[in-house]
Amino acid sequence: MENNSTEFKQKIPILYLVVPCYNEEEVIERSMQVLGDKMRRLQRAGKIEAGSKVMFVNDGSKDRTLRLLHTAAKEDALFSVVSLAGNYGHQSAILAGMMTAKEYADAVVTIDADLQQDIEALDKFIDSYMAGCEVVYGVRNDRHSDGVFKKGSATLYYNLMHLLGSRVITNHADYRLMSRKALEALAEYQETNLFLRGLIPTMGFPSDVVYFDVKAREAGHSKYTLSKMMTLAMDGITSMSTRPLRMISVLGMGVCIFSCVMLVINLVDWANGNNVPGYTTTMTVSLLIGGITLLSLGIIGEYIGKIYMETKHRPRYIIDTIVWKKEEEESS
Ligand code: UDP
Ligand code: MG
Repeated sequence: MENNSTEFKQKIPILYLVVPCYNEEEVIERSMQVLGDKMRRLQRAGKIEAGSKVMFVNDGSKDRTLRLLHTAAKEDALFSVVSLAGNYGHQSAILAGMMTAKEYADAVVTIDADLQQDIEALDKFIDSYMAGCEVVYGVRNDRHSDGVFKKGSATLYYNLMHLLGSRVITNHADYRLMSRKALEALAEYQETNLFLRGLIPTMGFPSDVVYFDVKAREAGHSKYTLSKMMTLAMDGITSMSTRPLRMISVLGMGVCIFSCVMLVINLVDWANGNNVPGYTTTMTVSLLIGGITLLSLGIIGEYIGKIYMETKHRPRYIIDTIVWKKEEEESS
């Protein structure tokens, strides 16, 4: 969307930066400094209102992260800390932050704690918001800071997601601005299996894309283990699309037709008195069908598991404490 600076559709926002943190003691002080500095500059430039804040969400860290955050939040009103009762994962952590922040903010930007995502892109996010966008997606320019494995698996993943009918935006990873209106709409989605990147584009709303450069992690190491990444990938597919179930039906039909053809061929052979000792063929076919059956059961199981979790209506996160300067520690 073009930004026509003479005709803003929105008033200058109270902006909240929501920053999920899980065991980030090596980098958190540096992030507080960098993010805080950027917020102050934006405030001085008149791009955001006074009262804008950086809201850290402590996702059950086991190291000094929470202590460092609390120290800062008690000294400086710019910082606030929402601490979850345990480790709920990145998606739930940003949801908790966004849902808390929407009570105070006009717009919320989610960003990782490790400073990999370029904070200077914030100006462009705000410009798009001012021009009337309710959602602004940050999309990374390239992946040169990633290893071969992460780059390859990411490309494969986005292609697979599109093939399966999901509307994820390629190379967008939860660096995103949402207006209060969009957040109110998001709050209506009560599902336990959250995959924000797939969900938010399906909501509609005028949106825009902002490109930014990705840097290497400033300190610490990735908190996304391979198994967390696999879970996110599986959730992304099964919570957004039932196409895999349809594919099983098609596959099943194909195998049935194939068996019928084989049956006819075998009967003809038998009638002609050709009792071929086809051990290999028999084994191959039964293994193939066994494999397909197990795979299909597994996929169906994934969906049943999802249904099971959804029917429990469990809370998606539990907030332990919220700390900021004026009202000291308040429990909820
Ligand atoms: N994170 C979190 N909970 C988790 C794992 C990660 O809140 O269970 C946070 C982490 O602190 C960081 C962000 O999510 O701010 C992205 O994680 P990371 O940088 O480790 O992922 P990567 O950039 O390697 O994909
Ligand atoms: Mg990172």
